[in-house]
Amino acid sequence: MKRSENTTGDPEAASLYSLLPSINRLLLAPEFAIILQSESHSTVVRAMRDVLFRIRQEIAEGLHTPASLNSFLIGLHLAVTREISQSKRYSLRRVINATGVILHTNLGRAPLSASALSHIQEIAAGYSNLELDLETGERSRRDVHTEELLLRLLNFNAGKLKASSTAPPRSAVVVNNCAAATFLALNSLAEGAEVIVSRGELVEIGGGFRIPEILAKSGARLREVGTTNRTKLADYESAISSDTGLILRVHQSNFSMEGFTERPTLQDLVSLGRRRGIPVFDDQGTGLVCSLDDLGARAEPTLFDSVDADLVSASGDKLLGGPQCGLLVGKADLIDRIRKNPLLRALRVDKLTYAALEATLGDYLSEKADSVPVVNMIRLSPLDIQKRCEWVADQVCSDKLFAEAVPVLSLIGGGTAPSARLQSSAVSLRHSTLQAQTLLHTLRRLDPPVIGRVSDDAVLLDLRTVEPEFDAILATLLRQAIGNGSHSSVRE
Ligand SMILES: *Cc1c(COP(=O)(O)O)cnc(C)c1O
Repeated sequence: MKRSENTTGDPEAASLYSLLPSINRLLLAPEFAIILQSESHSTVVRAMRDVLFRIRQEIAEGLHTPASLNSFLIGLHLAVTREISQSKRYSLRRVINATGVILHTNLGRAPLSASALSHIQEIAAGYSNLELDLETGERSRRDVHTEELLLRLLNFNAGKLKASSTAPPRSAVVVNNCAAATFLALNSLAEGAEVIVSRGELVEIGGGFRIPEILAKSGARLREVGTTNRTKLADYESAISSDTGLILRVHQSNFSMEGFTERPTLQDLVSLGRRRGIPVFDDQGTGLVCSLDDLGARAEPTLFDSVDADLVSASGDKLLGGPQCGLLVGKADLIDRIRKNPLLRALRVDKLTYAALEATLGDYLSEKADSVPVVNMIRLSPLDIQKRCEWVADQVCSDKLFAEAVPVLSLIGGGTAPSARLQSSAVSLRHSTLQAQTLLHTLRRLDPPVIGRVSDDAVLLDLRTVEPEFDAILATLLRQAIGNGSHSSVRE
């Protein structure tokens, strides 16, 4: 504990340091004896050291007078208690997402449905038949747990039912995310070959996922065709050669292009591919099942719009609303080649992901799509959100904190549906002394942290993305931590 003593050579600081108690003396004090009844000796000592270290730093920075130091030391046991509870907190914490962005990559994208949660809990708590065929007792593939559901969701017959269908058999695999799915597909099907991509689709998805870079890493060679705004079917056709391994189409998920634009439909590309014997791979991205057409999300394609492609990839935790994973669904011969790739072993997902994905797909197949939180949040009625905002505003309004419900637009986010804006409401907060940015920061330090945004010098809390059962918690947190408890009727 001699660390920073007298480093400033300042005699006043030296006298302040001498006021600090030793750990041994603290351990004998009655208020610490109480803490020691519920916490281990080493936990208490570590917390004391951390608190004293911080106070030494504050002294060194000249932040203390004898009076301020003494008043701090009187409450030292409270600081130590707080330190203990903070050090026990997990790093990964539940937060209240009041940004209104439904798929927020920084906030963990899709919350899971109740059935996904209970299936995870059941599977995580014990052993499972992850790779065991319960019929034969033989080893099996982990893919079987979601393959049929995925194919059924897309109205495909599973490979083994092919006798009853004229369509070619399909299969599906699951990997860690859609970036991995795209990479694995390119590497399995086009390593050393050319992949034809429109210049309008050489996009960056976010988080550093750039199509040209991932393609280069896969060992495939990029064959760009067309221009940024216009690519015609003939551009693809004339680029096909004996070197062509794949035609790649990429959903322009996070931006919209307007004006003088053109690109062939997926169906046209697929017909071209069939004629010339080249498979067409559609990086669909969003995994959207329930159409957004009625919400003004200009032609946001669904997973079903991609069924003609020979191979489709999509994220599990975007508009599908499941766990983080990447889905690859396609012709059985292509999926077989992907399965044989040793990289699949490196990109595979764990039993918890399968449990969550199986349950989420089950929600859709049993027509309970509304129990998938992402689907539900997209569909919330603006009037209901407004009423909730009015209630929260009413609860928290005080002479310190002015709160009112205001109309806002929510974003779907997560690199999806760039043109969709959902009518919503927010609780707008203005504090009598705190700037909006400071208030925003204060909200993030609550427990649970509240994540909002600033607009026009007010903090906005969009309740579309707040689970309704958190409304009361949010109101209590705001009232106690920021409104200072003095509820008034400023709004009336
Ligand atoms: C989001 C997206 C990806 C990346 O998906 P992750 O699951 O985040 O890895 C790839 N392609 C498209 C078209 C996307 O929209």
